[in-house]
Amino acid sequence: MRMLTIGAFAKASRLSPKALRLYDELDLLRPARVDPDTGYRYYALAQLERARLVAWLRRLGMPLARIREVCALDSAAAAAEIRAYWAGVEAETAVRRDLAGFLIEHLSSESRPTRKDTTMLELRYFAHSDRGLVRPANQDTAYAGTRLLAVADGFGPAGAPASSAAVEALRFLDSDELPAGDVLNLLQDAVQGATDAVRDATDGTDENGTTLTALLWTGSRLALVHVGDSRAYLLRNGGLFRITHDHTVVQSMIDEGRLTPEEATSHPQRTLLLKCLGTTAPDLRLHDASPGDRYLVCSDGLSSVVPEARIRDLLGTPGSPDETVLALVAEANRAGGPDNVSCVVADVVESAA
Ligand code: MN
Repeated sequence: MRMLTIGAFAKASRLSPKALRLYDELDLLRPARVDPDTGYRYYALAQLERARLVAWLRRLGMPLARIREVCALDSAAAAAEIRAYWAGVEAETAVRRDLAGFLIEHLSSESRPTRKDTTMLELRYFAHSDRGLVRPANQDTAYAGTRLLAVADGFGPAGAPASSAAVEALRFLDSDELPAGDVLNLLQDAVQGATDAVRDATDGTDENGTTLTALLWTGSRLALVHVGDSRAYLLRNGGLFRITHDHTVVQSMIDEGRLTPEEATSHPQRTLLLKCLGTTAPDLRLHDASPGDRYLVCSDGLSSVVPEARIRDLLGTPGSPDETVLALVAEANRAGGPDNVSCVVADVVESAA
């Protein structure tokens, strides 16, 4: 085998000897031979490609441990691993993009005149939670009030106290006047309060916990707080838009291109949560409300058994929020009711006052 000195190999790979020494120390690219007397490093020509790959993966921002893994794979597996890495980067960026959007929307609205002499809006709402047909108990909690819509889906032996503690901790938001303080601080306090309440209501282990998807009405907009696999949808002009992203292992596999949405519906681990309240900062979003908008917040007991097209039809059928909620719950139970099912429906209407 033809051996190159580190200088010659550096020239051929267009990497500096310093970079090559670093790759050696980090165990990313070991010299083919190290002279036992002089300590000089020698490289094989066949190592050029790997040296180049390491340099490019570092430029991509891939962590060293992951580069080591990629380099140990054959080409096809390495390609799949890079694709998965990049999908993860994009998903992480999407979360930050949403947070940036939330802040931009929040700060821009601060500088807009409030709609005083225009039409005032308010919510018509209904919430209901059902045990379903299979589970021995209901561990979901659903709540709706003039300012607060919330669904929490508890898991573990103390799942029921966990979900009810989370929602109970948000109830202070549901007063005629929003409590003093700006929306950002209110949401932060609410999330912290809910996290503490869940820990107090359970033994604080990973075994127990809850999802939380809540909408806070500010008078013209809805602020969303979301963590877990409960969902919020908006029905606007006949179109159904899901405004939450599931924090599940299966959803992250879809995001990474490892699984199709069709395969996901029958995946054995489809209910495995990636995040729950307390393990991560929740997703935050602000939505401008329009008269005629209809919001749905639901637990996975609805969305995992009733197809979205059917949810859209039921939401779009004329009826009051209570009629619609009961129709949705009945539909989940007609599909077998394998899980607790919770639904909150709220219509944005022009205020009667
Ligand atoms: Mn559930």
